[in-house]
Parts: sequence; C-alpha cells; structure tokens
Amino acid sequence: MKRKGILVVVSGFSGAGKGTLMKNLIKTYDNYALSISMTTRQPRDGEQEGREYFFVSKEAFEEKAGQDGLIEYACYCGNYYGTPKEYVETQLGMGKDVILEIEIQGALKIKKKFPSALLLFVMPPSAEQLKKRLAGRGTETQEVIEKRLHRAVEEAKGIGSYDYIVVNDDLEMCTRELHSIIRAAHSAVARNEEWIENMRQELDVLVKGEK
Ligand code: ADP
Ligand code: 5GP
Repeated sequence: MKRKGILVVVSGFSGAGKGTLMKNLIKTYDNYALSISMTTRQPRDGEQEGREYFFVSKEAFEEKAGQDGLIEYACYCGNYYGTPKEYVETQLGMGKDVILEIEIQGALKIKKKFPSALLLFVMPPSAEQLKKRLAGRGTETQEVIEKRLHRAVEEAKGIGSYDYIVVNDDLEMCTRELHSIIRAAHSAVARNEEWIENMRQELDVLVKGEK
C-alpha cells in the first residue's frame, strides 16, 4: 500500500509553544515536512529568512496571493501570513506528512479545501503559564503581548472545529503525543478508502474463482 501524506494543521494560542514543538517533532521523527509560511511581520531576533518564515513586503505578499500562489492566508494582529502552495503539493506527493503551523482562520480554510486534513490544537497547561511563556520569550512588546492574549480569547471559541487538542506541559511528552495522533490518523477508515475498495475487489475475484 502506497503511504499517502496527511496535511496536518497545528494551531494554538501565541506562546503555547507551537514553534518549539514543531522543531522538536521534525528533529525527532522522519517523514514530516514543515511548511514555511510567508509573512509581512518583521523578523524577531534570531529568526532567519527561509527558516522560520519568508519575510516579505505587503506588496510582495499581495502579488503572491493574487497569482494563486498561497493555499490559504489570513491577517493576524495586523500582519499577513500565508502558506505557499508549491511546497505543500510537492511534499504531499512524495508521501510526507506536511505540517502547517497556522492560526485558526487559515485552519478553517484548509479544512474546507482539504476535508481530510487533520486539525490539532496546542494548549498551554494554564492561562497563567501562557502569559508567562509569551512574556518569557522576550520577543514582543507589552502592547503586542496584550493584543495576542486578547486574540487567544477569540481563538479559544473556535477549538470545537479541531480534531484533537494536545497540552504542551512537558515538551518531550507532548511531542510523542502529537506523533502518536498523526500515526493513528493514517489508519482512519476515511483515509484508506481506496485501499479498502481494492481489498473488496480482490475478495470478490477470489470468491468467484473458488466457485
Ligand atoms: P508559539 O510558537 O506557540 O508562539 P513558542 O514555541 O515561541 O510559542 O514558545 C513560547 C515560549 O515558551 C518560548 O520561550 C519557549 O521556549 C517556551 N516553551 C515552549 N514549550 C515549552 C514547554 N513545554 N515548557 C516550558 N516552556 C516552553
Ligand atoms: P507569529 O507572529 O507568532 O510567528 O505567528 C502568529 C500567528 O500566525 C500564529 O498563530 C501562527 O500559527 C500563524 N501563522 C503562521 N504562518 C501562517 C500562515 O501561513 N497562515 C496562517 N493563516 N497563519 C499563520
């Protein structure tokens, strides 16, 4: 049976640890391809062009979106973020599980376009911990932190559209849990319809041959 890649969407409040988790997942397991998004936000200290994001101007972003070069995009806290189409299609074609670490509006667009996508939501252990992590990261001003916490209140209302939640308390445990959920998703009946249909046909042929 040829293994088909799954489109995996990972969302979560800013500061929940999505970026940290995704880096750990890719480092620990094979067969994942992490999509690099395009954004109009400024790079943080330590972020590299083409590693965390492709950092572009508003004009360049709008041009890419206008050419149908993004499979989804959204505006988050005043900046555009979008998923380049080509990488996702190539990697899925190669049988990789492609991870999109994106916010909720984008996640819902993906679910509509690709109903078999797996939607995961990363939770912090508590709201207090979320605030501590966001502040502890030291990459945003107090004003931006407040904006992102308010956004979290809105995002929390949409969790019902996701398939699974994972709590990022212990990083290693959470990484293993994410990997297990994705592995289990490969065995879902709905993701194996072609293979099941082939088996039905083989059984038919076998039984007819025995008569
Ligand atoms: P996000 O990508 O969701 O905005 P980050 O990956 O940047 O979040 O993590 C936010 C902060 O929390 C970072 O400083 C990171 O080192 C820290 N962090 C992430 N996961 C954990 C964890 N399991 N335990 C403690 N701190 C964590
Ligand atoms: P950050 O500025 O913290 O890197 O990202 C802000 C939010 O944008 C996060 O929730 C992140 O998951 C989301 N995001 C990153 N890339 C994309 C993307 O390509 N599309 C969408 N819709 N959201 C994205």
